[in-house]
Amino acid sequence: MVWHIVAHPALLNLHRDLSWMVAHEILPVRAVMHSRGMARTSACPRPGCGQEESVRHMLWECRAARDLWKEAGPLITSCLPADLTPQLVLYGVGRRPFPSKTFTKLWPTLTCLKEALWSSRNLLVAKNVETTPQAVAMVATEALGWYERKGASTPGEGSSTTP
Ligand SMILES: [Zn+2]
Repeated sequence: MVWHIVAHPALLNLHRDLSWMVAHEILPVRAVMHSRGMARTSACPRPGCGQEESVRHMLWECRAARDLWKEAGPLITSCLPADLTPQLVLYGVGRRPFPSKTFTKLWPTLTCLKEALWSSRNLLVAKNVETTPQAVAMVATEALGWYERKGASTPGEGSSTTP
């Protein structure tokens, strides 16, 4: 079920790739890179954090993630459920199944927020620039605009990248 969700036809290819890497926990966060001998440390780069940076940590457990989901996330869209869980955020699996129309809106929204969070983390690592949860939410809103302009899903857009 998760693999179907990962490559959900409502997602842009770019976001299918991100979903795929999140679901397989192969997004190049430090814990992943460290286990491959490609990073000196597995510690989260967010200031004052220092916990192991797993995919789940980066997108859900870290304070930067929690701030986004708690404060900025609900501001940008009314379609986010109040009781977000890591299973829903990471894998698109809710406590109960969503009506497909709801999910077709919800999943791109969650994916845009994850992508924006990942970008802000990369900006921090590469340029030492810190971003507020509000700024991350704005980036996600902008990305969501692609979906609004695009309209409905485009299953014929191409296949998702699979390793
Ligand atoms: Zn952290």
